[in-house]
Amino acid sequence: MSSHKHRILGSLFIVLIVGALGCGSILNAMMSRNLDVVAEGNRPEWLVDDAIHVVLCGTGAPLLDPNRAGPCTAVIAGGKMYLVDVGPGSTERSLEYRLPLAQLDGIFLTHFHSDHIGELGEAMTQSWLASGRDTSLDVYGPDGVTDVVDGFLQAYSRDQVYRTAHHTQQYMPKEGDHMTAHPVSPSIGEDAEVFNKDGLRVIAIRVDHEPVVPAVAYRFEYAGRSVVVSGDTDYSENLGRASHGADLLVHEVLEKKIVGTMSRAMRDRGLDRQAKLAGDVLDYHTSPQDAVRLARDADVSTLVFTHLVPPVPGMMARLVFLSELGEKGDVDVLVGKDGMHFRLDPEGGIDRDLLD
Ligand SMILES: [Zn+2]
Ligand SMILES: [Zn+2]
Repeated sequence: MSSHKHRILGSLFIVLIVGALGCGSILNAMMSRNLDVVAEGNRPEWLVDDAIHVVLCGTGAPLLDPNRAGPCTAVIAGGKMYLVDVGPGSTERSLEYRLPLAQLDGIFLTHFHSDHIGELGEAMTQSWLASGRDTSLDVYGPDGVTDVVDGFLQAYSRDQVYRTAHHTQQYMPKEGDHMTAHPVSPSIGEDAEVFNKDGLRVIAIRVDHEPVVPAVAYRFEYAGRSVVVSGDTDYSENLGRASHGADLLVHEVLEKKIVGTMSRAMRDRGLDRQAKLAGDVLDYHTSPQDAVRLARDADVSTLVFTHLVPPVPGMMARLVFLSELGEKGDVDVLVGKDGMHFRLDPEGGIDRDLLD
């Protein structure tokens, strides 16, 4: 081998060694930092203060949107975390935003469209992995919730057996990979108290998503502050009544003019089936204008749009959903994004930031 080739090989070897050592140090530093985070727990400061924390862990809808996971809103209060709906992709978002899944104390389903329940099994399993709990996870929802929970339990039953066998009952107790369904049955004008414990009160509110019957919204009250999550609904007077004075309303929206135009354009091109499907959704969702009207009449402080239809990228969303809203009164109106975090202190006010 020529000395030239020797020099090249030697240099390559040194580069590889230095690279390996450098990468090793960087990896060690990263691993050490990650382990510090694991030891500290996720968002420990949110679990000990008196605030309600709300994180949008999914602001999308059934249509493909790479920037938005399926519907999911996390509420953290009194040292516990709750999820309202668990749409596709939302568990990954919860992990990405380091939400305290080990403290997940319940899941609230608004109805059973696939975009709202797709990750019920993943939410159960990831919270079990995070906590090693030995008790069942509570799942609340309208009539039908027992069937949905039973179906997911059946689908995940083998996964539970593998994990407990592999890691032992001590570390992955089989009782923790389980859910208990709790049906809630509010009617128009009569909300249903879901629970009232450790200072947190949750009520279920009947909304209008026909032919999906029943469908519900949830109101959380803690330390004098309140948050309402609408689920899917057409404009609902009943929701307006039950949202009265809420500090934060997380409300679904569908821009009806655009979706109507899309439907007509599809029909013009002979896409009758697609036109029919697009046209059908117009009468069981709420326009941004109606959501603002509801929030204004209910004296809501902050309204944030979620479950955004149609999916539009980035800044376009503000143009589509925040124009021509009509009289807003004192309502602060926002377009939701995945990772948006709200903090509601007992003293008042709402702080918000974007988690990464
Ligand atoms: Zn939906
Ligand atoms: Zn729906």
